[in-house]
Amino acid sequence: MRARAASASWDGHEHAQQRRHPCRHVLSGRHAEGAALRRRAPPAVRVLRAPSQRQQLEALKARGDANGVEGLEIVDREFIVEREPAVDAPVALWSPETGIVNAEELAKALLRSATDAGAIFLPGTKLVGADRQSDGMVLRTEREQIHARVVVNAAGLYADDVSRMLGGETFTIYPCRGEYVELAPSKRSIVNGLVYPLPHQHSLGVHIVKTMNDDVWLGPTACFQERKDDYESNRLPIEAFVEPARRLLHGITIDDMRLGGSGIRPKLHPPAESFADFLIRRDRENPFVVQAAGIESPGLTSCLAVGRLVAQLTDAGD
Ligand SMILES: Cc1cc2nc3c(=O)[nH]c(=O)nc-3n(C[C@H](O)[C@H](O)[C@H](O)COP(=O)(O)OP(=O)(O)OC[C@H]3O[C@@H](n4cnc5c(N)ncnc54)[C@H](O)[C@@H]3O)c2cc1C
Repeated sequence: MRARAASASWDGHEHAQQRRHPCRHVLSGRHAEGAALRRRAPPAVRVLRAPSQRQQLEALKARGDANGVEGLEIVDREFIVEREPAVDAPVALWSPETGIVNAEELAKALLRSATDAGAIFLPGTKLVGADRQSDGMVLRTEREQIHARVVVNAAGLYADDVSRMLGGETFTIYPCRGEYVELAPSKRSIVNGLVYPLPHQHSLGVHIVKTMNDDVWLGPTACFQERKDDYESNRLPIEAFVEPARRLLHGITIDDMRLGGSGIRPKLHPPAESFADFLIRRDRENPFVVQAAGIESPGLTSCLAVGRLVAQLTDAGD
């Protein structure tokens, strides 16, 4: 992902409720609060525009409560003006326990934990082929062969290609690009936390993220595309973000925005469908493979829970 912040928030819980897997245990403990990886907690609001949307907001709160999210509260205009004066909404869902992490630092912290526990990291090592044997798999890279009793397919956008290579289940990853703009430095202080609209069909909806560096991002959009490696062609013009920004914040103009980063989601469903669960299970074709595919947002938020489940599945087959 090119974009480098992740919200570790109740939005993770929101998706986790739809997904079958136990993603309730979001980032916590030393991975999120250790010296190397600061976790900050700017509260989040999810806002509605019309009174008819109130039911949706209440349903979100009920789902968050059921998932064990603490402190969720439906708040009125007076409350919103006090906490987020620039947010344009009559009613909102307030989440005081929401936090943010730096995604790159999180990945580095996890790598340190893994290597401390004996994992060997082979950066820049591409899997180019695999052969199934009676006691496991022989993996071929450009440099060597590796024998493995179990292989976890966590190849993100390329998980469908890797599954094919491993003789695993057939599925398709549909790349879906998300683009961001950033607010100009002079406008960063108009938001204090994270601000979300009600969810969109394919994503959380274009929302406002305050990063660990106090940058303010607006995005991500959701646009399916053919290629898995094209982050830049046909970038949306900044104009496309003006209306979504105005739906959330007062007083934002095109002059307040700069083009930001982009990322590509590994979706397991085509554009005509709106949701597919993460694919985390022992492969149904090849017992030496565990699939961890289609891990789109909130994959970072739920990475420890996903990791635990993958570890159980890996041990279970040994
Ligand atoms: C725009 C955007 C915004 C997001 N925002 C959030 C957010 O706010 N909160 C949140 O929780 N999540 C968010 N996510 C989701 C999060 O980024 C993903 O869930 C997470 O990165 C998925 O991790 P992964 O390890 O499954 O896949 P990846 O991070 O894609 O890693 C896959 C790895 O497999 C490697 N690979 C592929 N093919 C091969 C091969 N043949 N051989 C060897 N290696 C291979 C790749 O090089 C890569 O290193 C966002 C995603 C996007 C796109």
